[in-house]
Amino acid sequence: MSGIYIHIPFCKQACHYCDFHFSTTMGKKEAMLKALCKELELRKAEFSGETVATIYFGGGTPSVLKTGEIEQLISKVREHYDVVDLPEITLEANPDDLSEEKILQLAASPINRLSIGIQSFFEEDLKLMNRAHNALEAEKCLQLASQHFDNISIDLIYGMPNMTLDRWKQNIDKALGYNIPHISSYALTVEPKTALAKFVEDGLITPASDEETQEHFNLLNETLLAAGFDCYEISNFGKPGYYSKNNSAYWQQKKYIGIGPSAHSFDGVQRGWNINNNPKYIKSIEQNILPMEVEVLSSTDKYNEYVMTGLRTIWGVSLTRISDEFGPKYKEYALMQADKFIEEHLLFVDGDILKTTKKGMFLADGIAADLFMLNLK
Ligand code: SF4
Repeated sequence: MSGIYIHIPFCKQACHYCDFHFSTTMGKKEAMLKALCKELELRKAEFSGETVATIYFGGGTPSVLKTGEIEQLISKVREHYDVVDLPEITLEANPDDLSEEKILQLAASPINRLSIGIQSFFEEDLKLMNRAHNALEAEKCLQLASQHFDNISIDLIYGMPNMTLDRWKQNIDKALGYNIPHISSYALTVEPKTALAKFVEDGLITPASDEETQEHFNLLNETLLAAGFDCYEISNFGKPGYYSKNNSAYWQQKKYIGIGPSAHSFDGVQRGWNINNNPKYIKSIEQNILPMEVEVLSSTDKYNEYVMTGLRTIWGVSLTRISDEFGPKYKEYALMQADKFIEEHLLFVDGDILKTTKKGMFLADGIAADLFMLNLK
């Protein structure tokens, strides 16, 4: 099973915390769509013999495109790739784009999963983040979308400055009130060169402490588990049958092609990433040159990635797989490094699988870093 990710590099305005690749001018939209279609064609040989099970429109803000434009891209995928009968087709969408008319159009298109960037139901949080939507739009779009889509995910951000535990609880409860089957939730991080970083530097904003952020995660985890969700990845909660197939494929090291500026690709051997500049991307594709850099992964890189992604998920890491794929030394090393975390009840071994405990899940990145292999040849 393989996936295709299509990056739509346009946003209405820049959120203060965001370091993704996007442009707030839509001037090059037509040329970009043409280039995306052409890149799909140029790269079809990479997936010969593969079947595409998921198509994911991410960004940026894919919902700024007209539904017909998205359908055109889906048709291109079908034209050049072997797609399963019922692929998961996800569109990331922002509430301010989801009018009733747009939701009806999307529901009539092949898109069968919406990932909506709610982030918060509170005006003060949305303003602080400089989101393009307001609290009313956040609620209204969910009311409408849930009438026409069964498979909906929303994004919520925790660990925001001045976000009390009570306000965070209200956010989670509001989300649960819409009976949606999937929630992706991330801690706000202060990325370099963002407006948020400048506010922090100037002393205008004090980021939430690690303790507050962990408290938010714990509340989220407990509340969603009690409501029938699985925390199948540290930032992703889904009801059974509603895990994101696209993201699960990433975490299970399946192949994917990333189309568009800044999009990443993985073919099992190497990682590639496209240039993160819209005009340069378009120009290069027009000249039939893929604007991509690649890095061939060493065994150590692959082991480290497997440990990193595995410990963040419900699937953990298979010790047999480590031994078979990377060699017995890697397995011995992983177990030796895992020892202290097992004693602290942050990791446990379940048969052949090394996993984080409920308590260890939030600390998965730090634990994984301790299991990374550095110099062993
Ligand atoms: S809408 Fe998404 S991609 Fe665009 S600026 Fe905001 S967070 Fe970043």
